[in-house]
Amino acid sequence: MRHRGMTIGLLAATVALLLFPSLAHAQGLMPIHRFYNSRSGVHFYTANEGEKQAVQTQLASTYRYEGVAYSIDSSDAVNSTPLHRFYNFRSGVYFYTANEGEKQAVQTQLASTYRYEGVAYSVSATPTPYPVFRFMNVRNGVHFYTACQSERDAVVADLLSPLQYEGIAFYIAGSVPVAPPIPAPTPVWQRFKGLKIEGVQTSNKVIAMDFDDGPSNYKTITEIFEKYGGKPTFFWVGNRVTTSAGQYAAAHGLEVDSHSWSHSSLSTMSDSEKLSQIDQADARITQLVGKKPLWFRAPYNDASSSLLSLLASRQHLYADQYLMTRDYTGLSSSQLIQMFDTPKPGAIYLFHEGTSNTVAALPTILTNLKKKGYRVVTNTELLRYGTPTSF
Ligand SMILES: [Zn+2]
Repeated sequence: MRHRGMTIGLLAATVALLLFPSLAHAQGLMPIHRFYNSRSGVHFYTANEGEKQAVQTQLASTYRYEGVAYSIDSSDAVNSTPLHRFYNFRSGVYFYTANEGEKQAVQTQLASTYRYEGVAYSVSATPTPYPVFRFMNVRNGVHFYTACQSERDAVVADLLSPLQYEGIAFYIAGSVPVAPPIPAPTPVWQRFKGLKIEGVQTSNKVIAMDFDDGPSNYKTITEIFEKYGGKPTFFWVGNRVTTSAGQYAAAHGLEVDSHSWSHSSLSTMSDSEKLSQIDQADARITQLVGKKPLWFRAPYNDASSSLLSLLASRQHLYADQYLMTRDYTGLSSSQLIQMFDTPKPGAIYLFHEGTSNTVAALPTILTNLKKKGYRVVTNTELLRYGTPTSF
């Protein structure tokens, strides 16, 4: 710990006392304590020593003390940007932002949920020396903050974590603790090896919509999603992927997964032929889209146990579906629209990219889903909402 001169320290302590009446710090470093509520899965932060002790003595059965999240150099002029605190009185959770635009947006647009509580403490606006990273729990909308790079990296690498990385929340001058080693999560392709995933177990109103057999109508479909909200998931056939399709997918941040190299039936192939179908498609999509696919769906959904093992060895998940719309059989748009009258939370719905009635039905399907409170996310985003399953 660094110690500052008394004059500056006293000034900082006076400012801190105004914010947190029971905080009495003569030192320059003000620790921000972190607790974890194991019942709600939510973190709680406080700079108030009295509040920290009250939580430790009176709420120990609910709140586990996790240590100092980071320390603010309260006697340093670099920490001069106010960090605003809001209280969400629906979830009982605090939200912090140092972004004035975001603060004003919350005050004007979310005033019925978020009550502004004032300045928690001051942070730095300049990127020095420590960033504080922000995540959002997609299941309950609650934010999580950490100043530990290793913890950030571990959460980002965990595809099953409900915490979605949102970027740097603010910067601090002070000190950052070294996080304890965080065990790497079991890779999803190992954990769900052999499972034909039809969706995830969740009560959140969220589904995935997959489009097989492209690339063909991907631009029109992407434009519809960009207009009406949500994200499609494309399963492209490797030998059909062009440079321009790959560039479009990369520019629009599309999730492109694999539907084999040549759309041949895999069940009669040898293992080496199956691997060739997987590897050639991976190579083409990785080269042209810029990202290796996580998911694989076999043509004709023709997945044997040997194929599932080979896919796990190539770090893929197997995409099945909760509902095959059979949109390629000449169904009308209104028949397709009716399939979403009672959506299934966490389910994967399968369409085909080249079907004109699907494209025609999409605006109404997406509009109706939004009215019911549903969001359409990609297959990979769906993993954050619950455990992969076959229904
Ligand atoms: Zn197909």
